[in-house]
Amino acid sequence: MSSSSRHIKIFDTTLRDGEQSPGCSMNQKEKVAVAQQLERLNVDIIEAGFAIASPGDFASIQAIAQAVKTPIICSLARAKKADIQAAADSLALAKRKRIHTFIATSPVHMQYKLMMTPDQVVDTAAEAVRLAKSFVADVEFSCEDAGRSDWDFLVRVVTAAIQAGATTINIPDTVGYQLPDGDRGFGALIAYLMDRVPGIDAVDLSVHCHDDLGLATANALAGVRAGASQIECTINGIGERAGNTPLEEIVMALQVRSDDLGVHTSIHTPEIMAASRLVTRITGSVVQPNKAIVGANAFAHEAGIHQHGMLKNRDTYEIMTAESVGRVDSTLVLGKHSGRHAFIDKLKALNIQASDADITRAFERFKRVCDVKKQLTDRDIEALVMDEQDQGATALVLNTVAVVTGNGPKPSATVSLFQEDREWVGTETGEGSVDAIYNTVDALVGETFDLVDYVIHSVTGGTDAIAEVTVRLQENGQIFVGRGAALDVLVASAKAYINAINQLRDNRDRT
Ligand SMILES: [Zn+2]
Repeated sequence: MSSSSRHIKIFDTTLRDGEQSPGCSMNQKEKVAVAQQLERLNVDIIEAGFAIASPGDFASIQAIAQAVKTPIICSLARAKKADIQAAADSLALAKRKRIHTFIATSPVHMQYKLMMTPDQVVDTAAEAVRLAKSFVADVEFSCEDAGRSDWDFLVRVVTAAIQAGATTINIPDTVGYQLPDGDRGFGALIAYLMDRVPGIDAVDLSVHCHDDLGLATANALAGVRAGASQIECTINGIGERAGNTPLEEIVMALQVRSDDLGVHTSIHTPEIMAASRLVTRITGSVVQPNKAIVGANAFAHEAGIHQHGMLKNRDTYEIMTAESVGRVDSTLVLGKHSGRHAFIDKLKALNIQASDADITRAFERFKRVCDVKKQLTDRDIEALVMDEQDQGATALVLNTVAVVTGNGPKPSATVSLFQEDREWVGTETGEGSVDAIYNTVDALVGETFDLVDYVIHSVTGGTDAIAEVTVRLQENGQIFVGRGAALDVLVASAKAYINAINQLRDNRDRT
């Protein structure tokens, strides 16, 4: 990179904005795993959660603050005393910390949501920043719904926030309404603030764009061109409604077109694919196949003429390599003759953290799977280990499942479940094989559940691929995600359902 190249900070909000979106909730262990992967990606800032939202959120921020050392850990707070106090408390153990406080600045939000006058909003914002500043040196202030706020009013609020001590000013297009270009576009808004806010050069100006019109990445780029020095984004673009700017897209756009943009980030891009897969697995939110950078087809060259060109010179149709975003299975494939040592080495190479008990169970599974499937790829091994961790020590465990199905009589399933030392066995029918299994499990546990989603994906190609199933159950507006992995789709389906029931019951016990 040339010396004139500007550094753009990457602020990841997968664990806050992303986690808030429907069906993407994560437990503490999962959040820590994502935060550790974000550290490997080398993001500058991790927004770890909204401390006052719940005791669970608070505890997760604390756990992340202890587990992660390099990135700054950020905790979100409304412009309220109790929120800011909670954010500060949650960060007590963080090595590097930031409080992010916000208030809405658009006419519709001020009038109907806050019921405050513009003057009151300016005073409240400045007060909130001063209070946050009394706890930490690094304070970010956001104007919620900036995309629909009056520009001169934004200049006023932002000026007040900087005078109160804010070190980063974030301009969110909260409802994804902005266009990147044009006199009233998002780039023009950032340029307007760069021009008119006193002291803006001494702080970071940040953009936070939503994808309601599919323009989040384009708007973030326009912001960078106009002078923004921080981008807020999420892995796979998860987030409220249509989601946020996807980290993988904006980072690779800045890298591949650094010639034109004159900027760089600190992201270690070969960790992108691992981050994408981890977030997919944890949230069960599958990435569309044609998604830029991380979709299954993003680097597939199908058309004959393209393949012909690629064979002659990869530059014909390739603007970046698959390796640069970590899309390569290592050539070291494990099989029947691999020992426990090789297996553990592989887990280390894949950055998979697991307890000794998890590893022992996973290794036994691995040996059994090798009898059926000759070679296991990195992804297969990842799925198996994660599966053993997921089932964990929780209450219900699948023992056996057998299904009778076909195009004749109604399918029926016989399921055996363990709970501690007891075993339950039952048989029920259903409209299909999975329905029969789930009806049987319901009968055994004595209740029915509200199943809102069921997704199968194969880990690698072929009919002997390991199947991963994600199931979502709903209770009192809360979503519980269950996962299961197995060589057989029906076994994976049973495991995922039982895993979701365990999560739901675990939550009942805690509340
Ligand atoms: Zn947002």
